[in-house]
Amino acid sequence: MNKDIATPIRTKAILEKHGFNFKKSLGQNFLIDPNILRNIVEYADLSPESGAIEVGPGIGALTEQLAKNCKKVVAFEIDQRLIPVLKDTLAPYPHVSIINQDILKANVQDAINEHFKGIEDIAVVANLPYYITTPIIMKILEDRLPVRSLVVMMQKEVGDRLSAKPGTKNYGSLSIAVQYYTTAEIVMNVPKTVFVPQPNVDSVVVRLNRRENPPISVTSEAFFFKVTKSSFTHRRKTILNNLTSQLEEGKEKKEAILSALSKANIDPARRGETLTIEEFGTLSNELYPYFH
Ligand code: SAM
Repeated sequence: MNKDIATPIRTKAILEKHGFNFKKSLGQNFLIDPNILRNIVEYADLSPESGAIEVGPGIGALTEQLAKNCKKVVAFEIDQRLIPVLKDTLAPYPHVSIINQDILKANVQDAINEHFKGIEDIAVVANLPYYITTPIIMKILEDRLPVRSLVVMMQKEVGDRLSAKPGTKNYGSLSIAVQYYTTAEIVMNVPKTVFVPQPNVDSVVVRLNRRENPPISVTSEAFFFKVTKSSFTHRRKTILNNLTSQLEEGKEKKEAILSALSKANIDPARRGETLTIEEFGTLSNELYPYFH
């Protein structure tokens, strides 16, 4: 029986057989440690009845471990050169479908409808292309795909921001956007040495479990996200200064902003980074009538 795709020897043989050379611009750093891959799959909590969506299968290292642990795998790979490679390496796993598309342009819901008939438990599991980590995660969350969780590897700095708590230096509008939809936690640190080629940055695996309901009910999600973004525009500025300078007609509506802050029980001298998601929700609900 063949060794796992992710073993260094087999990876080298596959790359040589297909004359493959890495494209840095596509974030191609392949994992060559089967133990790390098995740990990632374990964090995804898959069952033999689950479906897994992968972004960027590369030569199939993670795809193979997913295939061994669930009913169906659908993987989106942008690099056309990898399609024949995957056909070869994943030949023993007929329940894997590879879609040669840019994940940011793909209609993932259509793919779910087509490939996951009768499957209720769906998870995203991926070693992401780092240059588009945030857009990929936000697309999956904002499109409200029927995905139970995302277990995804990314650059450590991004993982720190996604999972940051109020009052810390990494906490910002991205933390809030992601934690509005999910509970986010770093579950694993991954050294550079388990990739070919080795990336310049450290990596982490983040588990995002989708919340059944957001932590706070907001009048308008679009306005809530606008308020949070505005509040972090200048991190050293107070929430009052950021809102008056960033919201449309904010300066003219300073009194209204002060009144909304007071009703939300938030000191106007606080900085955005100290507010919890719940506080941002209350504040945006209080501000909403003045701006619509
Ligand atoms: N899963 C493999 C592994 O762990 O060894 C490869 C991971 S590598 C970090 C990222 C993969 O994403 C590459 O195969 C790359 O070609 C692919 N990729 C890059 N941009 C993409 C996009 N927009 N849509 C789909 N796949 C993409």
